[in-house]
Amino acid sequence: MANVKQGADWLTKDKDFLWHSMKPYSPDATLIAEKAEGAWITDHTGKRYLDAMAGLWCVNVGYGRTELAEAAYKQLKEMAYFPLSQSHTPAIQLAEKLNEMLGNEYVIFFSNSGSEANETAFKIARQYHQQKGDHGRFKFISRYRGYHGNTIGTLAATGQAQRKYKYEPLAPGFIHVAPPDVYRNPEADDTKPTELSSVKEIDRVMTWELSETIAGVIMEPIITGGGILMPPDGYMAGVKEVCEKHGALLISDEVINGFGRTGEPFGFMNYGVKPDIITMAKGITSAYLPLSATAVKKEIYEAFKGTEEYDYFRHVNTFGGNPAACALALKNLEILENEELYLRSKTLGEQFKQSLFANLKDHPNVGDVRGKGLLIGIELVKDKETKEPLEVDYLNKIIAGCKQKGIIIGKNGATVAGYNNVITLAPPLSIKEEDIQFIIETLTEEIKAI
Ligand code: PMP
Repeated sequence: MANVKQGADWLTKDKDFLWHSMKPYSPDATLIAEKAEGAWITDHTGKRYLDAMAGLWCVNVGYGRTELAEAAYKQLKEMAYFPLSQSHTPAIQLAEKLNEMLGNEYVIFFSNSGSEANETAFKIARQYHQQKGDHGRFKFISRYRGYHGNTIGTLAATGQAQRKYKYEPLAPGFIHVAPPDVYRNPEADDTKPTELSSVKEIDRVMTWELSETIAGVIMEPIITGGGILMPPDGYMAGVKEVCEKHGALLISDEVINGFGRTGEPFGFMNYGVKPDIITMAKGITSAYLPLSATAVKKEIYEAFKGTEEYDYFRHVNTFGGNPAACALALKNLEILENEELYLRSKTLGEQFKQSLFANLKDHPNVGDVRGKGLLIGIELVKDKETKEPLEVDYLNKIIAGCKQKGIIIGKNGATVAGYNNVITLAPPLSIKEEDIQFIIETLTEEIKAI
Protein backbone atom coordinates (compact mmCIF):
# COMPACT_ATOMS: atom_id res chain seq x y z
CA MET A 1 0.00 0.00 0.00
CA ALA A 2 2.81 2.38 0.90
CA ASN A 3 4.19 1.85 -2.56
CA VAL A 4 0.88 2.76 -4.21
CA LYS A 5 0.57 5.94 -2.14
CA GLN A 6 4.13 6.96 -2.86
CA GLY A 7 3.57 6.16 -6.54
CA ALA A 8 0.67 8.60 -6.64
CA ASP A 9 2.82 11.24 -4.91
CA TRP A 10 5.62 10.88 -7.39
CA LEU A 11 3.21 11.34 -10.28
CA THR A 12 1.67 14.47 -8.73
CA LYS A 13 5.02 15.99 -7.86
CA ASP A 14 6.40 15.13 -11.28
CA LYS A 15 3.46 16.95 -12.86
CA ASP A 16 3.81 19.96 -10.54
CA PHE A 17 7.55 20.51 -10.58
CA LEU A 18 9.20 19.00 -13.62
CA TRP A 19 9.17 20.25 -17.20
CA HIS A 20 9.85 17.21 -19.33
CA SER A 21 11.91 17.47 -22.44
CA MET A 22 10.14 16.70 -25.69
CA LYS A 23 6.70 15.51 -24.58
CA PRO A 24 3.87 17.26 -22.74
CA TYR A 25 2.92 15.70 -19.43
CA SER A 26 0.89 12.54 -19.74
CA PRO A 27 0.26 10.12 -16.88
CA ASP A 28 0.17 7.22 -19.38
CA ALA A 29 3.40 8.14 -21.10
CA THR A 30 5.37 9.08 -18.01
CA LEU A 31 7.68 6.43 -16.70
CA ILE A 32 9.29 7.40 -13.42
CA ALA A 33 12.48 5.38 -13.23
CA GLU A 34 13.97 4.45 -9.90
CA LYS A 35 16.54 1.74 -10.52
CA ALA A 36 18.35 0.20 -13.46
CA GLU A 37 20.53 -2.85 -14.03
CA GLY A 38 21.91 -4.23 -17.30
CA ALA A 39 19.30 -3.41 -19.94
CA TRP A 40 16.44 -3.17 -17.43
CA ILE A 41 14.74 -0.21 -15.74
CA THR A 42 12.52 -0.49 -12.66
CA ASP A 43 9.89 2.23 -12.25
CA HIS A 44 8.52 3.79 -9.07
CA THR A 45 5.81 1.11 -8.73
CA GLY A 46 8.29 -1.76 -9.09
CA LYS A 47 7.38 -2.63 -12.71
CA ARG A 48 10.38 -3.65 -14.84
CA TYR A 49 11.02 -2.58 -18.43
CA LEU A 50 13.59 -3.77 -20.94
CA ASP A 51 15.12 -0.57 -22.29
CA ALA A 52 15.48 -1.27 -26.01
CA MET A 53 16.53 2.36 -26.61
CA ALA A 54 19.37 2.48 -24.03
CA GLY A 55 17.84 5.71 -22.69
CA LEU A 56 18.31 8.14 -25.57
CA TRP A 57 20.55 5.76 -27.58
CA CYS A 58 23.31 6.30 -25.06
CA VAL A 59 23.76 3.73 -22.25
CA ASN A 60 26.08 1.64 -24.41
CA VAL A 61 27.59 -0.56 -21.68
CA GLY A 62 24.27 -0.97 -19.88
CA TYR A 63 23.11 0.22 -16.46
CA GLY A 64 24.49 -0.57 -13.03
CA ARG A 65 28.23 -0.73 -13.76
CA THR A 66 29.71 -0.14 -10.33
CA GLU A 67 33.22 0.19 -11.78
CA LEU A 68 32.09 3.36 -13.59
CA ALA A 69 30.67 4.81 -10.37
CA GLU A 70 33.91 3.89 -8.58
CA ALA A 71 36.11 5.52 -11.25
CA ALA A 72 34.14 8.78 -10.89
CA TYR A 73 34.13 8.58 -7.08
CA LYS A 74 37.88 8.03 -6.89
CA GLN A 75 38.52 10.97 -9.20
CA LEU A 76 36.11 13.25 -7.33
CA LYS A 77 37.98 12.54 -4.10
CA GLU A 78 41.39 13.13 -5.66
CA MET A 79 40.56 16.25 -7.64
CA ALA A 80 36.97 17.19 -8.43
CA TYR A 81 37.61 20.02 -10.82
CA PHE A 82 40.14 22.04 -12.71
CA PRO A 83 39.46 24.08 -15.85
CA LEU A 84 40.73 22.99 -19.22
CA SER A 85 41.90 26.51 -19.96
CA GLN A 86 44.86 24.83 -18.24
CA SER A 87 44.98 21.03 -18.01
CA HIS A 88 44.57 17.94 -15.88
CA THR A 89 45.68 14.33 -16.07
CA PRO A 90 42.31 12.57 -16.64
CA ALA A 91 41.60 14.80 -19.67
CA ILE A 92 45.08 14.16 -21.09
CA GLN A 93 44.66 10.40 -20.65
CA LEU A 94 41.24 10.40 -22.28
CA ALA A 95 42.42 12.58 -25.19
CA GLU A 96 45.30 10.13 -25.71
CA LYS A 97 42.95 7.14 -25.62
CA LEU A 98 40.44 8.68 -28.08
CA ASN A 99 43.33 9.56 -30.36
CA GLU A 100 44.57 5.99 -30.27
CA MET A 101 41.09 4.86 -31.34
CA LEU A 102 41.13 7.43 -34.16
CA GLY A 103 44.61 6.58 -35.50
CA ASN A 104 46.62 9.35 -33.74
CA GLU A 105 45.77 12.11 -36.19
CA TYR A 106 43.54 14.31 -34.03
CA VAL A 107 43.52 16.67 -31.05
CA ILE A 108 40.53 16.66 -28.72
CA PHE A 109 38.41 19.52 -27.36
CA PHE A 110 36.06 18.55 -24.50
CA SER A 111 32.54 19.89 -23.83
CA ASN A 112 29.44 18.57 -22.06
CA SER A 113 26.80 17.60 -24.61
CA GLY A 114 26.41 16.58 -28.22
CA SER A 115 25.02 20.01 -29.08
CA GLU A 116 28.07 21.73 -27.66
CA ALA A 117 30.43 19.34 -29.45
CA ASN A 118 28.76 20.31 -32.74
CA GLU A 119 28.74 24.05 -31.93
CA THR A 120 32.44 23.71 -31.17
CA ALA A 121 32.98 22.01 -34.52
CA PHE A 122 31.22 24.86 -36.37
CA LYS A 123 33.30 27.50 -34.62
CA ILE A 124 36.55 25.62 -35.22
CA ALA A 125 35.70 25.13 -38.91
CA ARG A 126 34.84 28.79 -39.44
CA GLN A 127 37.92 30.05 -37.64
CA TYR A 128 40.17 27.49 -39.36
CA HIS A 129 39.30 28.92 -42.75
CA GLN A 130 39.95 32.43 -41.45
CA GLN A 131 43.30 31.40 -39.99
CA LYS A 132 44.22 30.30 -43.49
CA GLY A 133 43.18 33.65 -44.93
CA ASP A 134 40.02 32.16 -46.44
CA HIS A 135 37.64 34.73 -44.96
CA GLY A 136 34.49 33.99 -46.93
CA ARG A 137 33.83 30.41 -45.79
CA PHE A 138 30.99 30.36 -43.28
CA LYS A 139 28.25 28.10 -44.70
CA PHE A 140 27.53 24.56 -43.58
CA ILE A 141 25.64 21.94 -45.51
CA SER A 142 23.57 19.36 -43.64
CA ARG A 143 20.79 16.98 -44.58
CA TYR A 144 17.04 17.13 -44.12
CA ARG A 145 15.91 14.69 -41.42
CA GLY A 146 19.28 14.86 -39.64
CA TYR A 147 19.40 16.07 -36.01
CA HIS A 148 22.43 17.86 -34.59
CA GLY A 149 21.31 19.43 -31.32
CA ASN A 150 19.04 21.83 -29.47
CA THR A 151 20.97 25.13 -29.59
CA ILE A 152 20.33 27.95 -32.06
CA GLY A 153 23.32 26.86 -34.18
CA THR A 154 22.84 23.11 -34.06
CA LEU A 155 19.09 23.47 -34.62
CA ALA A 156 19.96 25.51 -37.71
CA ALA A 157 21.99 22.51 -38.89
CA THR A 158 19.16 20.14 -37.98
CA GLY A 159 16.95 19.17 -40.91
CA GLN A 160 13.70 18.56 -39.01
CA ALA A 161 11.34 21.52 -39.37
CA GLN A 162 9.07 20.38 -36.57
CA ARG A 163 11.83 20.98 -34.02
CA LYS A 164 12.75 24.38 -35.43
CA TYR A 165 9.90 26.55 -36.57
CA LYS A 166 8.94 27.93 -33.15
CA TYR A 167 12.49 29.16 -32.52
CA GLU A 168 13.27 31.01 -35.73
CA PRO A 169 15.29 32.91 -36.67
CA LEU A 170 18.07 30.41 -36.09
CA ALA A 171 21.74 30.89 -36.93
CA PRO A 172 22.19 31.87 -40.58
CA GLY A 173 24.49 30.05 -42.96
CA PHE A 174 23.03 26.52 -42.86
CA ILE A 175 21.86 24.87 -46.06
CA HIS A 176 20.00 21.58 -46.32
CA VAL A 177 20.13 18.88 -48.95
CA ALA A 178 18.13 15.66 -49.31
CA PRO A 179 19.41 12.75 -47.22
CA PRO A 180 20.52 9.49 -48.80
CA ASP A 181 18.04 6.68 -48.21
CA VAL A 182 18.53 3.36 -49.95
CA TYR A 183 14.97 2.27 -49.13
CA ARG A 184 13.26 5.16 -50.90
CA ASN A 185 15.99 6.07 -53.39
CA PRO A 186 17.93 2.90 -54.20
CA GLU A 187 20.97 3.24 -56.43
CA ALA A 188 23.00 0.53 -58.15
CA ASP A 189 25.60 -1.03 -55.82
CA ASP A 190 28.42 -0.31 -58.26
CA THR A 191 27.64 3.42 -58.59
CA LYS A 192 30.86 5.43 -58.11
CA PRO A 193 30.69 7.43 -54.83
CA THR A 194 30.78 10.79 -56.60
CA GLU A 195 28.12 9.61 -59.06
CA LEU A 196 25.54 8.85 -56.36
CA SER A 197 22.63 11.26 -56.81
CA SER A 198 22.73 12.38 -53.15
CA VAL A 199 26.47 13.13 -53.45
CA LYS A 200 26.03 14.93 -56.76
CA GLU A 201 23.43 17.14 -55.10
CA ILE A 202 26.00 18.26 -52.50
CA ASP A 203 28.51 18.94 -55.26
CA ARG A 204 25.94 21.01 -57.17
CA VAL A 205 24.81 22.96 -54.09
CA MET A 206 28.43 23.81 -53.25
CA THR A 207 28.93 25.14 -56.75
CA TRP A 208 25.70 27.15 -56.77
CA GLU A 209 26.40 28.59 -53.34
CA LEU A 210 30.00 29.40 -54.43
CA SER A 211 32.65 26.95 -53.24
CA GLU A 212 34.58 29.71 -51.51
CA THR A 213 31.65 30.36 -49.11
CA ILE A 214 31.39 26.76 -47.87
CA ALA A 215 33.01 25.99 -44.49
CA GLY A 216 31.92 22.36 -44.23
CA VAL A 217 29.41 19.54 -44.26
CA ILE A 218 28.02 18.02 -41.07
CA MET A 219 26.54 14.54 -41.26
CA GLU A 220 25.90 11.45 -39.21
CA PRO A 221 27.29 8.41 -41.04
CA ILE A 222 23.85 6.86 -40.56
CA ILE A 223 21.02 9.32 -39.84
CA THR A 224 19.54 8.11 -36.54
CA GLY A 225 16.84 10.40 -35.13
CA GLY A 226 15.46 11.13 -38.59
CA GLY A 227 14.42 7.49 -39.01
CA ILE A 228 17.61 5.37 -39.30
CA LEU A 229 18.23 6.22 -42.96
CA MET A 230 20.81 3.95 -44.56
CA PRO A 231 23.12 5.63 -47.08
CA PRO A 232 24.57 3.80 -50.08
CA ASP A 233 27.92 2.31 -48.97
CA GLY A 234 29.90 4.83 -51.03
CA TYR A 235 28.01 7.92 -49.84
CA MET A 236 30.32 9.14 -47.08
CA ALA A 237 33.45 8.63 -49.21
CA GLY A 238 31.70 10.54 -52.01
CA VAL A 239 30.86 13.43 -49.67
CA LYS A 240 34.48 13.54 -48.47
CA GLU A 241 35.73 13.72 -52.05
CA VAL A 242 33.29 16.52 -52.88
CA CYS A 243 34.35 18.39 -49.71
CA GLU A 244 37.99 18.16 -50.79
CA LYS A 245 37.14 19.37 -54.27
CA HIS A 246 35.44 22.49 -52.86
CA GLY A 247 37.85 23.11 -49.95
CA ALA A 248 35.24 22.29 -47.27
CA LEU A 249 35.69 20.26 -44.07
CA LEU A 250 33.77 17.07 -43.34
CA ILE A 251 32.33 16.90 -39.81
CA SER A 252 31.15 13.45 -38.72
CA ASP A 253 28.48 13.67 -35.99
CA GLU A 254 29.15 10.49 -34.01
CA VAL A 255 26.96 11.46 -31.05
CA ILE A 256 24.80 8.36 -31.59
CA ASN A 257 26.80 6.50 -34.26
CA GLY A 258 29.93 6.40 -32.07
CA PHE A 259 31.16 3.97 -29.43
CA GLY A 260 29.90 0.79 -31.00
CA ARG A 261 26.31 1.67 -31.86
CA THR A 262 26.87 0.78 -35.54
CA GLY A 263 29.19 -2.17 -34.85
CA GLU A 264 32.45 -0.18 -35.11
CA PRO A 265 34.08 2.17 -32.60
CA PHE A 266 32.88 5.05 -34.81
CA GLY A 267 30.23 5.11 -37.53
CA PHE A 268 32.56 6.53 -40.21
CA MET A 269 34.74 3.42 -39.82
CA ASN A 270 32.04 1.46 -41.66
CA TYR A 271 32.72 3.58 -44.72
CA GLY A 272 36.54 3.86 -44.97
CA VAL A 273 36.62 7.65 -44.55
CA LYS A 274 38.72 9.95 -42.33
CA PRO A 275 36.58 12.97 -41.41
CA ASP A 276 38.29 16.30 -40.67
CA ILE A 277 36.31 16.79 -37.46
CA ILE A 278 34.53 14.15 -35.36
CA THR A 279 31.98 15.01 -32.68
CA MET A 280 30.99 12.58 -29.94
CA ALA A 281 28.94 12.44 -26.72
CA LYS A 282 26.39 9.94 -25.30
CA GLY A 283 28.30 6.61 -25.52
CA ILE A 284 31.61 8.25 -24.53
CA THR A 285 30.50 7.82 -20.89
CA SER A 286 27.52 5.56 -21.66
CA ALA A 287 25.65 8.64 -20.33
CA TYR A 288 26.71 7.98 -16.73
CA LEU A 289 28.03 11.57 -16.62
CA PRO A 290 27.79 14.43 -19.15
CA LEU A 291 30.80 14.68 -21.47
CA SER A 292 31.35 15.33 -25.15
CA ALA A 293 34.33 15.78 -27.43
CA THR A 294 35.25 17.38 -30.72
CA ALA A 295 38.20 15.61 -32.36
CA VAL A 296 39.99 17.78 -34.89
CA LYS A 297 42.60 16.76 -37.46
CA LYS A 298 46.07 17.90 -36.38
CA GLU A 299 46.61 20.05 -39.46
CA ILE A 300 43.48 22.05 -38.60
CA TYR A 301 44.76 22.54 -35.05
CA GLU A 302 48.16 23.61 -36.42
CA ALA A 303 46.49 26.46 -38.33
CA PHE A 304 45.49 28.01 -34.98
CA LYS A 305 49.07 28.36 -33.82
CA GLY A 306 49.47 32.07 -34.48
CA THR A 307 51.92 34.49 -32.97
CA GLU A 308 49.28 37.09 -32.09
CA GLU A 309 47.68 37.13 -28.66
CA TYR A 310 44.15 37.05 -30.19
CA ASP A 311 44.93 34.32 -32.67
CA TYR A 312 43.72 31.37 -30.60
CA PHE A 313 40.44 29.50 -30.38
CA ARG A 314 38.36 31.73 -28.11
CA HIS A 315 36.02 29.11 -26.82
CA VAL A 316 35.76 28.16 -23.20
CA ASN A 317 33.31 26.13 -21.18
CA THR A 318 33.37 25.71 -17.42
CA PHE A 319 32.42 22.07 -17.12
CA GLY A 320 33.81 20.54 -20.31
CA GLY A 321 36.22 17.68 -19.65
CA ASN A 322 35.27 17.42 -15.98
CA PRO A 323 37.92 15.15 -14.37
CA ALA A 324 35.39 12.64 -12.99
CA ALA A 325 33.61 12.44 -16.35
CA CYS A 326 36.98 11.83 -18.07
CA ALA A 327 38.00 9.15 -15.56
CA LEU A 328 34.62 7.48 -15.98
CA ALA A 329 34.87 7.68 -19.79
CA LEU A 330 38.26 5.93 -19.69
CA LYS A 331 36.75 3.08 -17.68
CA ASN A 332 33.76 2.98 -20.04
CA LEU A 333 36.07 2.65 -23.07
CA GLU A 334 37.95 -0.12 -21.24
CA ILE A 335 34.66 -2.03 -20.76
CA LEU A 336 33.68 -1.55 -24.41
CA GLU A 337 37.04 -3.03 -25.44
CA ASN A 338 37.45 -5.76 -22.82
CA GLU A 339 33.94 -7.12 -23.35
CA GLU A 340 34.33 -6.79 -27.13
CA LEU A 341 31.13 -4.80 -27.31
CA TYR A 342 31.93 -3.32 -30.74
CA LEU A 343 32.04 -6.79 -32.27
CA ARG A 344 29.07 -7.87 -30.18
CA SER A 345 27.05 -4.95 -31.54
CA LYS A 346 27.99 -5.93 -35.10
CA THR A 347 27.21 -9.65 -34.87
CA LEU A 348 24.27 -9.56 -32.47
CA GLY A 349 22.81 -6.57 -34.33
CA GLU A 350 22.95 -8.45 -37.64
CA GLN A 351 21.21 -11.51 -36.14
CA PHE A 352 18.63 -9.28 -34.47
CA LYS A 353 17.86 -7.52 -37.75
CA GLN A 354 17.71 -10.79 -39.69
CA SER A 355 15.29 -12.36 -37.19
CA LEU A 356 13.01 -9.32 -37.29
CA PHE A 357 13.15 -9.38 -41.08
CA ALA A 358 12.30 -13.10 -41.19
CA ASN A 359 9.31 -12.57 -38.89
CA LEU A 360 7.99 -9.40 -40.52
CA LYS A 361 8.94 -9.46 -44.19
CA ASP A 362 5.54 -10.72 -45.32
CA HIS A 363 3.57 -8.25 -43.23
CA PRO A 364 1.79 -5.81 -45.57
CA ASN A 365 2.79 -2.78 -43.48
CA VAL A 366 6.46 -3.55 -42.97
CA GLY A 367 8.30 -1.71 -45.74
CA ASP A 368 11.85 -2.11 -44.52
CA VAL A 369 13.94 -3.58 -41.69
CA ARG A 370 17.35 -1.93 -41.66
CA GLY A 371 20.36 -0.76 -39.70
CA LYS A 372 23.92 -1.56 -38.72
CA GLY A 373 25.04 -3.00 -35.40
CA LEU A 374 22.58 -2.52 -32.58
CA LEU A 375 20.90 0.34 -34.42
CA ILE A 376 17.77 -0.96 -36.10
CA GLY A 377 14.81 0.70 -37.79
CA ILE A 378 11.52 -0.82 -38.98
CA GLU A 379 9.78 1.43 -41.49
CA LEU A 380 6.01 0.99 -41.55
CA VAL A 381 4.02 1.85 -44.65
CA LYS A 382 0.41 1.77 -45.81
CA ASP A 383 1.37 0.06 -49.01
CA LYS A 384 4.62 -1.68 -49.92
CA GLU A 385 4.41 -0.54 -53.54
CA THR A 386 3.82 3.18 -53.00
CA LYS A 387 5.80 3.25 -49.70
CA GLU A 388 3.28 5.74 -48.35
CA PRO A 389 4.07 6.13 -44.63
CA LEU A 390 1.78 4.48 -42.09
CA GLU A 391 0.01 6.91 -39.75
CA VAL A 392 1.77 7.54 -36.47
CA ASP A 393 -1.27 6.34 -34.47
CA TYR A 394 -0.40 2.78 -35.43
CA LEU A 395 3.17 3.24 -34.23
CA ASN A 396 1.88 4.71 -30.98
CA LYS A 397 -0.25 1.60 -30.50
CA ILE A 398 2.75 -0.66 -31.09
CA ILE A 399 4.85 1.37 -28.66
CA ALA A 400 2.09 1.31 -26.02
CA GLY A 401 1.61 -2.44 -26.52
CA CYS A 402 5.33 -3.09 -26.04
CA LYS A 403 5.42 -0.83 -22.99
CA GLN A 404 2.51 -2.69 -21.48
CA LYS A 405 4.43 -5.93 -21.95
CA GLY A 406 7.54 -4.35 -20.44
CA ILE A 407 9.66 -3.11 -23.37
CA ILE A 408 10.62 0.46 -24.20
CA ILE A 409 11.08 1.05 -27.92
CA GLY A 410 11.25 4.29 -29.93
CA LYS A 411 9.83 5.89 -33.04
CA ASN A 412 11.37 8.45 -35.31
CA GLY A 413 11.20 10.12 -38.64
CA ALA A 414 10.01 13.50 -39.88
CA THR A 415 6.75 14.48 -38.18
CA VAL A 416 5.78 17.39 -40.42
CA ALA A 417 6.01 15.39 -43.60
CA GLY A 418 4.03 12.44 -42.20
CA TYR A 419 7.16 10.30 -42.07
CA ASN A 420 7.05 9.61 -38.34
CA ASN A 421 6.79 5.98 -39.29
CA VAL A 422 10.00 4.24 -38.21
CA ILE A 423 10.18 2.05 -35.10
CA THR A 424 13.67 2.39 -33.60
CA LEU A 425 15.73 -0.03 -31.53
CA ALA A 426 19.08 0.81 -29.94
CA PRO A 427 19.53 -1.30 -26.79
CA PRO A 428 22.64 -1.40 -24.60
CA LEU A 429 25.42 -3.23 -26.49
CA SER A 430 25.68 -5.59 -23.52
CA ILE A 431 22.05 -6.71 -23.85
CA LYS A 432 21.54 -10.43 -23.23
CA GLU A 433 20.53 -12.66 -26.14
CA GLU A 434 17.41 -13.81 -24.28
CA ASP A 435 16.37 -10.15 -23.95
CA ILE A 436 16.80 -9.66 -27.70
CA GLN A 437 14.58 -12.70 -28.17
CA PHE A 438 11.97 -11.12 -25.90
CA ILE A 439 12.04 -7.94 -28.04
CA ILE A 440 11.76 -9.93 -31.28
CA GLU A 441 8.76 -11.94 -30.05
CA THR A 442 6.93 -9.00 -28.46
CA LEU A 443 7.50 -6.57 -31.30
CA THR A 444 6.45 -9.17 -33.86
CA GLU A 445 3.22 -9.78 -31.93
CA GLU A 446 2.48 -6.08 -31.60
CA ILE A 447 3.18 -5.30 -35.26
CA LYS A 448 1.12 -8.26 -36.39
CA ALA A 449 -1.74 -7.04 -34.19
CA ILE A 450 -2.18 -3.80 -36.16
N1 PMP B 1 23.77 14.93 -32.63
C1 PMP B 1 23.00 13.85 -32.72
C2 PMP B 1 23.13 12.97 -33.90
C3 PMP B 1 22.10 13.56 -31.71
O1 PMP B 1 21.32 12.49 -31.80
C4 PMP B 1 22.01 14.42 -30.58
C5 PMP B 1 21.07 14.13 -29.42
N2 PMP B 1 20.15 13.15 -29.55
C6 PMP B 1 22.83 15.54 -30.56
C7 PMP B 1 23.70 15.77 -31.58
C8 PMP B 1 22.74 16.50 -29.41
O2 PMP B 1 23.23 15.92 -28.26
P1 PMP B 1 22.81 16.48 -26.82
O3 PMP B 1 21.38 16.13 -26.60
O4 PMP B 1 23.75 15.77 -25.89
O5 PMP B 1 23.06 17.95 -26.85
